[in-house]
Amino acid sequence: MKKGLQDGFKRPRLDLIQCPVCKGRAVVTGVFYELVCADCNGSGWVVDGSRLLLPLEELVTQLSFKLQAAEREIRALKGVSGMAGPERHYNEPNRRGAGGSNFTGD
Ligand SMILES: [Zn+2]
Repeated sequence: MKKGLQDGFKRPRLDLIQCPVCKGRAVVTGVFYELVCADCNGSGWVVDGSRLLLPLEELVTQLSFKLQAAEREIRALKGVSGMAGPERHYNEPNRRGAGGSNFTGD
């Protein structure tokens, strides 16, 4: 395994912050209707520390990274299994047995 080589091809993780123009809403309110915010390509996010507008294909990937991180956070907050791992695996059958709510049919 040539790990050093692989790292060179990793996509960079850019720090995305809420677009200051649309306040992360991805749209700006026009006179009669909402317009897609031109400052963030309608994503609601811009690269931290720069006014660089990401090309759409790059933006999609960066948004995916951000979404994945957000989902991990949500899962961690909810305490859903997967993050808790083996500990939860051992606890659950015990708790269920004590609670007595889980009958074995036959
Ligand atoms: Zn914007």
